[in-house]
Amino acid sequence: MIEQLALDGGPRAVEEKLPTFLESAGRSFGVEEESLVLEALRNGCLSRNGGTMVLRFEQEFAQALGVPHAVACSSGTASIHLAIAALNLEPGDEVIVPPITDIGTVLPVLWQNAVPVFADVDPRTMCLDPADVAGRISGRTRAVIAVHLAGQPCDMDALAEICKERSLVLIEDCSQSYWAEHQRRLAGTIGDMACFSLQQSKHMTCGEGGILVTPREDYARRARLFTDKAWPRETKSLGSCRFLFLAQNYRMSELAGAVALAQLSKVRDTVARRRASAERLTALLADVPGVTPPHASSNTLHSYWLYMLRVNEAEAGVTARRFGEALTAEGVPAWVEYIIDPLYLSPIFTESQTYGTSGYPLLEFGRQNYQRGLCPNAEAALKSTIAIWWNENYTEAHVHQISDAIRKVGSHFSLAGARQ
Ligand SMILES: *Cc1c(COP(=O)(O)O)cnc(C)c1O
Repeated sequence: MIEQLALDGGPRAVEEKLPTFLESAGRSFGVEEESLVLEALRNGCLSRNGGTMVLRFEQEFAQALGVPHAVACSSGTASIHLAIAALNLEPGDEVIVPPITDIGTVLPVLWQNAVPVFADVDPRTMCLDPADVAGRISGRTRAVIAVHLAGQPCDMDALAEICKERSLVLIEDCSQSYWAEHQRRLAGTIGDMACFSLQQSKHMTCGEGGILVTPREDYARRARLFTDKAWPRETKSLGSCRFLFLAQNYRMSELAGAVALAQLSKVRDTVARRRASAERLTALLADVPGVTPPHASSNTLHSYWLYMLRVNEAEAGVTARRFGEALTAEGVPAWVEYIIDPLYLSPIFTESQTYGTSGYPLLEFGRQNYQRGLCPNAEAALKSTIAIWWNENYTEAHVHQISDAIRKVGSHFSLAGARQ
């Protein structure tokens, strides 16, 4: 018998509302955050220049990852900007990026007048394919940004080797991969610099914020100056100040720092809970035809920001898009929009919408055709993927209901297909 889909007016497979990151039921805020925020308020200084919370957060974050330096800032996008700015690139230099990520990975490259060069992805993980990265290196390439998408670490051994051989800087974007592991090394401890977002949806959050870590003192110093108008505060008096280079105000406030500091004590537990429940779902989906759980390579530990479900259109008898819509109607928080198009099909690139009508630096230096076909694996993978929002507060019952929904939608379309 074919069960009636919620999409067609049938009963929903997921009856209760699942916790989401937009409400306290889906976040981990508690007395720890409250007391540190109060402490910051009572200190009377809410700027990091004069306060203690942001400094403590930086020190404890660096220590937790085992990396010498950390620089907090106002967003994940800002943290990428710190990394690019630390390199002091020449206009027209190139940075290799993946086409499937948050736009915040890529915008700072353009802000520094450098050119993002898109490389294709491994079709299983949608993370950068090292062989394709190697093929897109030019004489102007300076850095590679490896995005551990959805919580799945990139093939960091291969990327690190390529970067070493070609003298490129390897930047990790860990915004979706807190405490993920590659070969028993934490994401964020492998590259020359690593960036994290503390935006509301991430594993740990202070609403808006970011942090960069690096083993290199020179990068850390330049990144820190970049958050603070390149104002060398050690010169103390305003009059003696010389602003050292073109920079930003990307400072994190003490209120945000207080929340981030409290969240840091919870992030390992958050990741462990997400991992356990996601692995439970994967086990439950073993015999559902037409769908494939997220790729889990043996040498990595995924941290499940999203649960990426692949739909094999031929086997499932339906497009991933339609499958996702049906899942959403069943009450599963599927995110079909995340994955419509690779970033290079945005007007920023296709119409060179940068500075006024100049198209700078893309028109001056760009050498890629920002058109369909640029990264075929990425385009195909996006067409066949549904992102399901994952959450540390999903219970075993929630996971069973999500599994029931996927099974219901899967069998509806495969049976409907078989009947035709
Ligand atoms: C969230 C995110 C960003 C941007 O972070 P913001 O805090 O929103 O600026 C960058 N890269 C990735 C991979 C992200 O998931």
